[in-house]
Amino acid sequence: MSEFKMLIGGKLAKAGNTFGVINPATGEVFAQAPDCSKEQVEQAIEAAHQAFPKWSRDMDARRKVLKDMGSALMANQEELAKLLTQEQGKPLRLAKIEIMGGAMILQMAADTVMPVEVIQDDEKLRMEIRRKPYGVVAAITPWNFPVSLAMGKIATSLITGNTVVLKPSPFTPIANLRLSEILLDIVPAGVLNIITGSDSIGSVMTDHPLVRKIDFTGSVATGKKVALSAAPDLKRVTLELGGNDPAIVLGDVDPEKIAKKLFWGAFTNSGQVCTAIKRMYIHESVYDKIVENMAAIAKRTQVGNGMDEKTVLGPINNKPQFDRVTGLVEDAVSNGAKIMAGGHALGEGGYCFESTIITNVTDETRIVAEEQFGPVLPILSFKDVDEVIERANHTHFGLSASVWSADENKAIAVAEQMESATAWVNQHMAPTPLVPFGGSKWSGIGYVNGRWGVEGATEIQVINIKKN
Ligand code: NAD
Repeated sequence: MSEFKMLIGGKLAKAGNTFGVINPATGEVFAQAPDCSKEQVEQAIEAAHQAFPKWSRDMDARRKVLKDMGSALMANQEELAKLLTQEQGKPLRLAKIEIMGGAMILQMAADTVMPVEVIQDDEKLRMEIRRKPYGVVAAITPWNFPVSLAMGKIATSLITGNTVVLKPSPFTPIANLRLSEILLDIVPAGVLNIITGSDSIGSVMTDHPLVRKIDFTGSVATGKKVALSAAPDLKRVTLELGGNDPAIVLGDVDPEKIAKKLFWGAFTNSGQVCTAIKRMYIHESVYDKIVENMAAIAKRTQVGNGMDEKTVLGPINNKPQFDRVTGLVEDAVSNGAKIMAGGHALGEGGYCFESTIITNVTDETRIVAEEQFGPVLPILSFKDVDEVIERANHTHFGLSASVWSADENKAIAVAEQMESATAWVNQHMAPTPLVPFGGSKWSGIGYVNGRWGVEGATEIQVINIKKN
């Protein structure tokens, strides 16, 4: 078994203990990761603090480092993708795309501009608004897109002049640990630190007074803990949290054509996407036909080990999540739900679960009211558009939503009423790196991507110059 090391203060570091990382396709430990001690977390934060002044002053150096980081990811794409598939479960083809996406995020960030905005410039005054980095950023990530989410945080924080301590999910630390070695000679000492361990090291990071900004992606429950932990020092936070995204399908759609798009809106990455469709409301006039078509797609889509070329959808990533998803299906069935496709675990040992479509549920059924984050979709019907808007909005979540109709204007009129930070029309999950992304209500605070991401990673400084 290869030994993976952390990156602390420009050196590769072991920890006193290690923990096993499970391949979700087999249920077996395939690698050991360092279990970072509290002292090592503090060393990493201190190293990032020390590296900050020099790093924050040299934009050209930052551009070069980010470009080189992107190239290094691509040069190691194959190896990183295999590690990613083994720890996360997604098919190798998609793991390669994720590594490429991470490389692109770094390369694109290298071209970021932080223009000085001039508010007034006359004989009396010159007033400029500049953007300044915070200092040490604690970047904490979940297990569904371990590389691209980490690279998003690293890219935005580093290019704007911050330094970073990254802590990936304990379920998926391996590809990021391999990056410790790959990036060792590219990133100046202390600028990027990569540490791994249990959830508790996350709170050591968020409590630490030298951390000035927390860039967190994960569940609402943990996001609230992070916000509480940030409060005593008034640390800045970007919180990218969970969703329970509704899709509303109006009665004028073509049931044959739309089924495939709706299916992939829900089941991409085996439903383990924050913005996946998590509950679907279909007008009663097209309900049966669309459910039938989607169930047929679910039944023929191959679920299995991501290393197998035939696999289209991988397993659920980890045992707690597998137990949660199966528990939600059992709860629905015991309350009268009908399984239209799937409904069972596949194979032995791993966490593969059939793509599952459920009907005969109510808005109160747990699988509808809660975020399932797995390959199970509840489909409900509706008669009246105003009523379904109210039902879809009746949640603390507000990440994204989509509206589907043959009449674009009709769909836009509904989309405008969705209480979500993103509302898609005739598509779902179509993120682009230059468009702001965040959550309303309990789905988050702050935005990432493009100039909105830069604003989130920096604070304003006004330079106010009195003339004559
Ligand atoms: P999680 O909240 O359990 O864990 C996320 C990260 O936080 C992990 O690295 C974990 O170790 C760390 N952590 C746990 N407790 C902590 C604490 N007290 N202080 C600091 N860090 C702590 O989430 P998860 O199960 O890994 O991920 C799934 C969730 O992430 C889903 O709700 C999903 O919707 C959400 N998500 C949101 C987005 C988005 O952009 N909005 C993207 C991906 C995933």
